[in-house]
Amino acid sequence: MSHHQAGTFPTAPGPQCAFPGCTRPPAPKDPAQPGRPAKYCDDPAHHRVAAFREKERRERQAAAEATAAAVGRLESARTVTAEAGASVIELVRRLEDEIRRLLDEAARSAVRIEELEQEVARLTLSGRGNRP
Ligand SMILES: [Zn+2]
Repeated sequence: MSHHQAGTFPTAPGPQCAFPGCTRPPAPKDPAQPGRPAKYCDDPAHHRVAAFREKERRERQAAAEATAAAVGRLESARTVTAEAGASVIELVRRLEDEIRRLLDEAARSAVRIEELEQEVARLTLSGRGNRP
């Protein structure tokens, strides 16, 4: 004795049950009853209060899903930021090592230049001194 007649309705465009997600046509109006035509199908669970609750439930679910998606994006942004930060720290460390190495090399070169200049000066002086 169910009012359900699933599958017996064609999915042709036309008025649909006002219950969220229901595509069945509204229950036919009893011409003997006064009032407007039915907004809901003949499913007894599809009525104004249930439709309002279902709409609210769907809105809460959509909001929860949107929040979860935003949290997911935030977490992946944090991961990317943390990874970028770690890369920058590693790069700075390598640059510090390289700068230290180059400074050491420059210092050693400066010492060598000084030694060579002194040697040139000494040879120049002794060369002059040896001249007749
Ligand atoms: Zn319905």
